[in-house]
Amino acid sequence: MTALLLLAMAENSHSADSTCALSIRLIDSSTGRDLPGLICVRDERGAAVKLEGLLDRGMGTANRRKTDRKIHDWYVAPKKAVVRVPAAKLTVRAFRGLETEMAETCVDLTGRRWASVTLKLNRFHEMRSAGYISGNTHLHFKDATRADSDRYLREVPIADDLNAVFVSYLERPEADKGYVTNEYTDAEWAALSRETGVLFANGEEHRHNFGEFDEGYGHVMFLNMPGLVRPVSLGPGITGTGDDGVPIRQGIDDAAKSAIDAIWCHNSWGFEDAPNILTRRVRAAHVFDGGSRGSYETGFYRYLNLGISLAFTSGTDWFIRDFARVYVSGAGQTAGSWLKALLLGKSFITNGPLLDLRIDGKGPGEVIDLPSKREISVTARAVGRVDFGLIELVRNGVVISTSPTRGQGGHFTADMRVEVDIDEPCWLALRIPPVSSEEYCDGEAALPMSEFGWPLFAHTSAVFVDIDGRRVHDEASVRGLIEDIAGAKKIILEKAVFASDADRARVTGVYDEALSLLGAPMR
Ligand SMILES: [Zn+2]
Repeated sequence: MTALLLLAMAENSHSADSTCALSIRLIDSSTGRDLPGLICVRDERGAAVKLEGLLDRGMGTANRRKTDRKIHDWYVAPKKAVVRVPAAKLTVRAFRGLETEMAETCVDLTGRRWASVTLKLNRFHEMRSAGYISGNTHLHFKDATRADSDRYLREVPIADDLNAVFVSYLERPEADKGYVTNEYTDAEWAALSRETGVLFANGEEHRHNFGEFDEGYGHVMFLNMPGLVRPVSLGPGITGTGDDGVPIRQGIDDAAKSAIDAIWCHNSWGFEDAPNILTRRVRAAHVFDGGSRGSYETGFYRYLNLGISLAFTSGTDWFIRDFARVYVSGAGQTAGSWLKALLLGKSFITNGPLLDLRIDGKGPGEVIDLPSKREISVTARAVGRVDFGLIELVRNGVVISTSPTRGQGGHFTADMRVEVDIDEPCWLALRIPPVSSEEYCDGEAALPMSEFGWPLFAHTSAVFVDIDGRRVHDEASVRGLIEDIAGAKKIILEKAVFASDADRARVTGVYDEALSLLGAPMR
């Protein structure tokens, strides 16, 4: 045997022995109870170690954005996990959802065949005890096997500490053959709920596009339905057949007959948002749910400035790519009662900071009616694992007070206590400094980021402050909406294909009605 061959054999036997079976246990530092969570193991160079056998937290997430890579560094750890890792110096990090600090420990596994490590997770907040239930209201999976999808649904919401998950059906010719979540039945959602303790319920994305992915009339989400509202998709752009003669409104009105509510998707993407929000057919809207268009101003503030309550909600569209979620208070135990509280605006959205806003003792979704002008007291607080910089109190879309974060061990807190002079009717809300939908989707902004590389956002729904029954009303918002609705109607008349004058009138009538509600001169 040559010396060279002996050397190669020695190398081989060394590499066979160079891994270690590492048992990783996560526990709640205050109760000592085992916790599921997310873990990341890095070697001495800082490279993430692949953990065979555990679910890649980034499953289904393509590396379209530079920061998408970060989610693939994380793995879903059931209560106890045993993974094979290099027998070397490693760093293990872990956390659960949005309520625990990051735990970290360094281990030297050199020469070890077996080792175990326990990470204690410090919980800095308990949203459930504070009366909040979190949910993702826009979610579906594609291009995954049924077995992978089942495993993902069993493991990810628990590790992310997500309490309610609405998984929606959608149709697109050919492509929807790969939409694995379309296959689930209501009985399967119920079984999954019993097994995991997470509330699973159905949904449907009802939509119209011009072209396969172009902007069209828009998307709404129906949630917790007794059955599908048909047709699911509208127009030749997305269905490959027929014409553009049916507005989204028809499906919204059909759904309403079965007491199903519609929630707008993708912020300001789509033309029929304003007409349906102004007529109160849509009472909640998604932001940061995968759309790359719009802002708080165009998606929410213009309606709030007209005294229209529009609840904030959020989700992640394809797979749970971020912690984006909505927290709802007073939500009860069922999907129906949770949605009812959401639609009343008893909510805040976040992918990190946990918000609390009290105004004269009332919270988001509530109305304060003052008999006359006076001062009101505002108490606001936010806590988060990642430093979110500031909280901002917003009145009618304008920041009127800010408060910086301060570090407290492994998390950050911001507190605000102010008296606000109310001399006009208004709405108030709490947020962290806003990130645009574009910045959120690009993920490269120099902003505080989640562990998965998404810029942080957080915003409560509004508290309206009326004076003697008078509600806020802002003419600039009226003008902005009139311009948008008239612009949408013009594009539709250029792009849409109508089989008859009656079809054209049915679609344009939706916009004409909205314009007349706003007092716009008819044209
Ligand atoms: Zn979707």
